[in-house]
Amino acid sequence: MDRYQSFARSGFGRFVVGKLGLPEPYPLRRHSPTQPPLDGPVLLGGGGRLVGPVGAAVKALGLDVVSGAGAGSVGGDGSAAQAGSADRGASAARGGSAGAGGSAGAGGRYGALVFDASGIDSVERLRELYEFFQPVIRSLAPCGRVVVLGTPPEQAESRIAQRALEGFTRSVGKELKRGGTAQLVHVAPGAEDAIDSTLRFLLSGRSAYVSGQVIRIGPADVEAPADPDRPLAGKVALVTGASRGIGAAIADVLARDGAHVVCLDVPAQGEELSAVANRVGGSAVQLDITAPDAPARIVEHVEQRHGGVDVVVHNAGITRDRTLGRMDAARWDAVVAVNLASVERVTEALFAADAVRANGRVVGVSSIAGIAGNVGQTNYATTKAGVIGLVDSLSGRVAGRATVNAVAPGFIETRMTAAVPLLIREAGRRMNSLSQGGLPVDVAETIAWFAHPASSGVNGNVVRVCGQSLLGA
Ligand code: NAD
Repeated sequence: MDRYQSFARSGFGRFVVGKLGLPEPYPLRRHSPTQPPLDGPVLLGGGGRLVGPVGAAVKALGLDVVSGAGAGSVGGDGSAAQAGSADRGASAARGGSAGAGGSAGAGGRYGALVFDASGIDSVERLRELYEFFQPVIRSLAPCGRVVVLGTPPEQAESRIAQRALEGFTRSVGKELKRGGTAQLVHVAPGAEDAIDSTLRFLLSGRSAYVSGQVIRIGPADVEAPADPDRPLAGKVALVTGASRGIGAAIADVLARDGAHVVCLDVPAQGEELSAVANRVGGSAVQLDITAPDAPARIVEHVEQRHGGVDVVVHNAGITRDRTLGRMDAARWDAVVAVNLASVERVTEALFAADAVRANGRVVGVSSIAGIAGNVGQTNYATTKAGVIGLVDSLSGRVAGRATVNAVAPGFIETRMTAAVPLLIREAGRRMNSLSQGGLPVDVAETIAWFAHPASSGVNGNVVRVCGQSLLGA
């Protein structure tokens, strides 16, 4: 908890914050192996081609499901009667009355509200959103989840209605209080069975700092992990810039999920790098990724030691801020070399050598500065927008062989942001729907979702981990 957050949670602070209309950051519920993923059952409604597969996937996650109108009730201890079959939810919603009848869990609250909007094939039917959500939105538990599922607008019967879902979901994200989040998931026709890993991410504390996002899932052959708690068992992941900050958190989370992590950083970070590699039971590679022979050395390392690599996370990054008129060429060149040129070169070399194994993953680390632009960061924002370009150009080219996605973090509490002047730092922290900065683990969990073997349909996405920041929204 940051200092303002502790103040806002105190008795006096609560009073001042309420009176002045100041931001009210709620402590976010993050993933913990000893806690259920959600604080209450999932209310499932809507009536399209997705409600069946979604109901099955949610139950497979061990979550209690309550369907729309007429569905079974939830016991006083919060245990759902598992009454609502997905099919019943579908037929209830077709009548336009889904949602009204499901009952909430302990404390009368739902852990998540999930709505299949893929059946909405006209503007008039958008009213089904209102009918499902309006009666129950205030019964969402703290840190609850709203997930709307639809069809990619360009593939939908009513492109207008499906596109409209975006405005609805993003506004719900802004209205939710107490750590709630809202996302829209576009599931392409044929991708109905490729949604499980995404629901696992969204319907849990793993996605604590992700809100207001539009996620796309396409048809793909899905590899179900043998052990759902260690989905990356047997996989090798390379993480650049792994000695500290977000990179160290990525190494931790991928190792937690079972991967052998090859941790890479510059020689000057050698000691911290070894500490991280030891902690995660991985290996350390001291290397400057801008060195001319870096791509070849990386290829050689993963091929000789591991016979290839499954997950590549391009996390290493630097800032050298100055407004453009005052920026010397060295600042421009250094940022482009680390954040973008090396990412392109290493990725190309790995694919050229066939070192990325089947069902591989490439993950870029962009930034909301690459989406919105930022004063003093023409160099940095150029590179971070370029990372999105890499996703766009490569995801189609290697489809079927690997997925290529990126995270775009907002304000994350690290050494990088601790160095930002106080006032700008406070503004960065608060200017988002959750009124707080994210933690490195929030970025890492999002990357772990991309890396999950069942996420083969999640390709070409840029997902912001920014608490629905106002910047570039
Ligand atoms: P950080 O400075 O703490 O860590 C970056 C790591 O990259 C360091 O360990 C550094 O040694 C390593 N690195 C730098 N140049 C390298 C090189 N040439 N070769 C190998 N390794 C190199 O920063 P962080 O905050 O953890 O950021 C990680 C990534 O997240 C960066 O790409 C950054 O741009 C991005 N990001 C961070 C934030 C934030 O709020 N912290 C927001 C948006 C994006």
